[in-house]
Amino acid sequence: MGSVQIVTTILAFAITAVAVWLAVRAVMKMVAVIRLGQPDPTRFGDKGTRTKTMLAETAGHTRMLRWSVVGAAHWFVMVGFIVLSLLVLEAYFEVVSPTGELPLVGAWTFFNAVTELIGILGIVGILVLMAVRLRNRPTRPGGRSRFTGSTMWQGYFVEWVVLLVLIFGFVIRGFKVATDHFEYPVWATPLSHAVGAALPNWDAGVSVAALIKIVISMTWLIVISLNVTMGVAWHRFLAFPNIFFKRDPGRAGSGLGALRPMTSQGKPLDFEEADPEKDQFGVAQVEQFSWKGLLDFSTCTECGRCQSQCPAWNTGKPLSPKLLVLSLRDHAYAKAPYLLAGGGKDLTGEEKATPAQLAHVDVLALAEGDKPLIGTAEEGGVIDPDVLWSCTTCGACVEQCPVDIEHVDHIVDMRRYQVLIESSFPSEAGVMLRNLENKGNPWGAPQNTREDWTKGLDFEVPRVGEVDDFEYLFWVGCAGAFEDRAKKTTRAVATLLNEAGVKFAILGEGETCSGDPARRIGNEFVFQMLAQQNVETLNEAFEGREKSKRKIVATCPHCFNTLGNEYGQLGGEFEVVHHTQLLAHLVATGRLTPVQPVDGGVTYHDPCYLGRHNRVFAPPREVLGTAIAGELTEMPRNSERSFCCGAGGARMWMEEKIGKRINVDRVEEAMSTGAKTVAVGCPFCSTMLNDGVNGKGAGEQVEVVDVASVLLRSVKPEQAPGEKETAPVAG
Ligand code: SF4
Ligand code: SF4
Repeated sequence: MGSVQIVTTILAFAITAVAVWLAVRAVMKMVAVIRLGQPDPTRFGDKGTRTKTMLAETAGHTRMLRWSVVGAAHWFVMVGFIVLSLLVLEAYFEVVSPTGELPLVGAWTFFNAVTELIGILGIVGILVLMAVRLRNRPTRPGGRSRFTGSTMWQGYFVEWVVLLVLIFGFVIRGFKVATDHFEYPVWATPLSHAVGAALPNWDAGVSVAALIKIVISMTWLIVISLNVTMGVAWHRFLAFPNIFFKRDPGRAGSGLGALRPMTSQGKPLDFEEADPEKDQFGVAQVEQFSWKGLLDFSTCTECGRCQSQCPAWNTGKPLSPKLLVLSLRDHAYAKAPYLLAGGGKDLTGEEKATPAQLAHVDVLALAEGDKPLIGTAEEGGVIDPDVLWSCTTCGACVEQCPVDIEHVDHIVDMRRYQVLIESSFPSEAGVMLRNLENKGNPWGAPQNTREDWTKGLDFEVPRVGEVDDFEYLFWVGCAGAFEDRAKKTTRAVATLLNEAGVKFAILGEGETCSGDPARRIGNEFVFQMLAQQNVETLNEAFEGREKSKRKIVATCPHCFNTLGNEYGQLGGEFEVVHHTQLLAHLVATGRLTPVQPVDGGVTYHDPCYLGRHNRVFAPPREVLGTAIAGELTEMPRNSERSFCCGAGGARMWMEEKIGKRINVDRVEEAMSTGAKTVAVGCPFCSTMLNDGVNGKGAGEQVEVVDVASVLLRSVKPEQAPGEKETAPVAG
């Protein structure tokens, strides 16, 4: 070993020892913080599916590849990082000797050829990602950036480290070529040979370049170890467990659909026995999230994909799902020393720690412990109430997140505490909640008018109890029963089912609200009250039938989601379809025949609770495809990336006081297609988009109408209930 190698070896191992010590300390700190969360026993089942999903999402980059160029570039960088970690290991042999190499594989031409290729693609990939970050930097003139609010230096730092480590890999090989210590053919290692041709024949070059590569890598490790909230770096490790432990790992759209039941100490809360002084009602302190919640917050890469799709953020509201997650993460880590010393408030608000326990806790951590989780800037709150109540629970953030963070669950958990314990929520929603409790529907309409929509139909609509041999129970929903526009959809669906000879029956006055708006606003108590009543009614209606024969068709995606995905939590197992699914089936099997194509151009708005939350994208399009003249005109934001109408998450019942109205944004997009008809599959979308169209004074040019009504116009033009007199029907 020459004198240069003695120096490079000492320096390499010294910096590595420091970096590893700091990294171990950082990992222990992160584990300690995550363990502060509440238990969640539901995350450990079906390890086979969890492993498969984790491998598919990481190795296959299934989520990121939707952002094709960025996804492909990131894939090469990820593979580069994993494979080239071996080459960092090899550098430890190279600081010791210029001919050093990895044992076993280091002298293998195939290994060198593969690492050469991955190195080249990794450099291209990281340059693309750097260009994307620069092009989308928040400070660029004009336009909004998905990186707004992200810690930009961390992103640049990580990218430069990756680039330099990759480059120095080729410099090391180049010196080996230049000093004649590299025996691999040019075809297998072309870039190394090209670099070697440009470098001097300097014997110490290999060891010095290897030392620089180790110093860069270890500097990275030191920096991220000193910044445990540096998600842009830590996600490389945390993404694996975060995806592994996600909920419903086998379900496309995991993290969407059903909301999780309220839990205390990891167990579902039973409202008959629950005691707010002993049981946790929602989340009031960051440590009341489950450990998976805290893992979610730690894993955020700050990529801003969620933010770029969020309807609230895109219309000037203060909510960004990314910034919400970052606030919770930073708060959790800042508060952690206080919590780890035994601090924290019990459920009655009393401090748990003794003064002696807190004597040595940093004042900043103590101050963080005093912050209310929800509160205005003046109150020192972590999350502003306007942020919390801006969410429509549309799920665009969950859908886009490459590391499977479950934003909607966290938002609703925080709402639950605000509503149930603090009675703090937008006051205008109080009327809706009172109506649900007293009248069983959000409008407060008399229950005995639930069947009014059937009046004037030229066939009898059977009630459950009057007939036993129905195939489908037609769940009408409150909007479908009480709201004038939605009633037309209800009548259209009933007419089409009757036309197709489907045996169906309604509950009529036996139906009450599914409970969706109560659950989404956070009032789990009212949700459970309504849901239990409905489950009882439905179980009675289907008595003696196996699950596959307990079929329900619903026109409202919120009812469809709640009945199909959430009633199982209360003992109600049903086969629930949306009316567009059933209509698509009836058309495909020839039981309904469209005869007169609806023209004028049609576009389709995906309801969030039908599309993203339940992956029903094709059936409404199939129905429209058979009923309209020409092709369906898609909006730029459609299917998985559809833009919310603004009504979900009980936002329908709250005023939209901040920023641009979400429905107006969506209507502008729909109108930009030039279509005369905007087809919808949800009564709330219908209301919101109709309001948007009318607000723009475009009611005469554009019509918002349910898919069922479009089909009815095509199947039975003479009977179609016009949403307005000037319905654009081909003559
Ligand atoms: S659910 Fe929708 S509105 Fe709520 S934070 Fe996510 S993207 Fe934004
Ligand atoms: S998409 Fe996921 S990882 Fe990216 S910023 Fe949003 S929460 Fe973080």
